[in-house]
Amino acid sequence: MVWGGGRWGQDKVSTRILVTNPQVEHSPMPIRYQVSAPHPATHYLLVQMHISGWAGPVLDLKLPVWTPGSYLVREYARHLEQLQVQGGLAWQKVSKNHWQICTAGVSEIQVQYYLYANELSVRTNYVDEQYVYIHGAATFLYIPQWRHQASEIVVVPPQEHWPVVTALDPLDPHRFLATDYDTLVDSPIVTGHVLIEDFVVADVPHRLAVAGPLTCEVDRLRRDITQIITTEAALFGGLPYQRYVFFLHLTTQGYGGLEHKNCCALIYSSSGLRDRHKYQKFLNLVAHELFHAWNVKRLQPREFIPYDYDREQYTTSLWFCEGTTSYYDLVMPWRAGLYDAHTFLELLAAEITRYYQTPGREVQSLSEASWDAWIKYYRRDGNSPNSQISYYVKGALVTLLLDLKIRHKYANQRSFDDVMQALWREFGCSGMGFTPEQLQATVAAVLAEEVTDFWRDYITGLTPLPLAAALADFGLELRPLLEPTPFLGITLEPGCCVVKQVVRHSPAWWAGIDPGDELVMVAGQRVRRERWPEQLREFTPGQRVTVAVFRREEWRQVEVTLAEPVPERYQLVPMAQPTPSQQALGMGWLGSEIFRQE
Ligand SMILES: [Zn+2]
Repeated sequence: MVWGGGRWGQDKVSTRILVTNPQVEHSPMPIRYQVSAPHPATHYLLVQMHISGWAGPVLDLKLPVWTPGSYLVREYARHLEQLQVQGGLAWQKVSKNHWQICTAGVSEIQVQYYLYANELSVRTNYVDEQYVYIHGAATFLYIPQWRHQASEIVVVPPQEHWPVVTALDPLDPHRFLATDYDTLVDSPIVTGHVLIEDFVVADVPHRLAVAGPLTCEVDRLRRDITQIITTEAALFGGLPYQRYVFFLHLTTQGYGGLEHKNCCALIYSSSGLRDRHKYQKFLNLVAHELFHAWNVKRLQPREFIPYDYDREQYTTSLWFCEGTTSYYDLVMPWRAGLYDAHTFLELLAAEITRYYQTPGREVQSLSEASWDAWIKYYRRDGNSPNSQISYYVKGALVTLLLDLKIRHKYANQRSFDDVMQALWREFGCSGMGFTPEQLQATVAAVLAEEVTDFWRDYITGLTPLPLAAALADFGLELRPLLEPTPFLGITLEPGCCVVKQVVRHSPAWWAGIDPGDELVMVAGQRVRRERWPEQLREFTPGQRVTVAVFRREEWRQVEVTLAEPVPERYQLVPMAQPTPSQQALGMGWLGSEIFRQE
């Protein structure tokens, strides 16, 4: 453990991380980037790029429009300004993210530019007086013909004593080697007031780099993360990387994660680490991003090979990349002993609640949700729950169904783990990628039966997931919890009476209430946020009431017939008297304690 003031790399473990290839160290790189932040309070990064050995008449430079793992065209070039080419070479900008320099026989070219870096997230750049987060896709121009070339990256921290943390190969504490451009994009760099904790799991060095106020013992974090690493390595038969860094940025609020091959970036609420439930969610986040070191970073949809940084890359398989990973992010901490089977069922029930509370499940299939992530999942608005299903949520539940189907057939002797292992063996460790057909065929091979109907119903189709029946086979009752509140069909923004969501086909939807409307009156009574939705309980289902809203400062009044209550949430409860078959399957999956009455 080293605080920001210390030199990193002095203890045993860090020395292992610092091991470098001496041949590489002495050979000059064809591309060298230097990144600094001369005035960090202004949130600008300065990038100086030096290219040597260029032979063509024209040099193309581009900046990615998106970053792998986050399927939205973010237009990183909108933050790039004051580009300068040294030595008087003519240049022009030919498209939004593409610059061309007339090199006319010059082989050494120097370019510099500024980047505005003031968006605190796992996929954007950020600079202030305490902390610098450099995200590769948002930062480094690339030469399309030279994507395979190695580059040297020099990081000049705003404070000389700040440690620089990255999963890139270190040449010295401030200089790093990226073997190619994909590796550079995939390796965020952090410097600032950072707590560093090094540890070894299965002979592989790991590093935890924490920025922001840490509200729990670092020992506990290290211990729990180690358990997750060990459990995931056991599933896949070893760790797929030579070293790994967990970047954790703790803030007052915020949540996010982004996977990389040899590291992951996490943003979490600092106070959340002290709360039992929020700490469990944190463990899910860690398990999720680490699981991606296999699923999606190495076991990839073939459509992603190679990445195209210029435009959207379409696949129908995001439900597997993200949804299956989401299922395992609930399974892994449980399997690692960090929470019990009852907690696992609570977390699973919360996913089931989200599925049933998303009317878009009847509109968009998993394949469509995957394909359209670029324009839908990442561009959400008030109507999104009505027109979309999350490939995270439904993908996790489809994985649950497949897991139960395999477990049922083989009396828990086989499971979805066998699918993951087969995919990893065939398409993951080789890096060749899989097609949607190969994914389906692998599931069918493990099950030793056709899954064409399953795919047609639940992956390319809109058939409701048979969750209650599948879980009942394992002695679990899926129980809807009803509050006696007549159903209007709106949710309000926190702390105010502005309508956040209107449920498709609900009374409010048919009456024309919109997201963004301000709810002011129901049946002559002023709506009080602190009393909502309890206020609705004064009425009965079937009752016709007048609802008034302000829309763009204009008063609107509509008549609404309140409907029967709908489930507030779902619970998964072990049956009190399961049949012998249900008991055997349930215990084989969830452990022998599961049916013990509490
Ligand atoms: Zn993910």
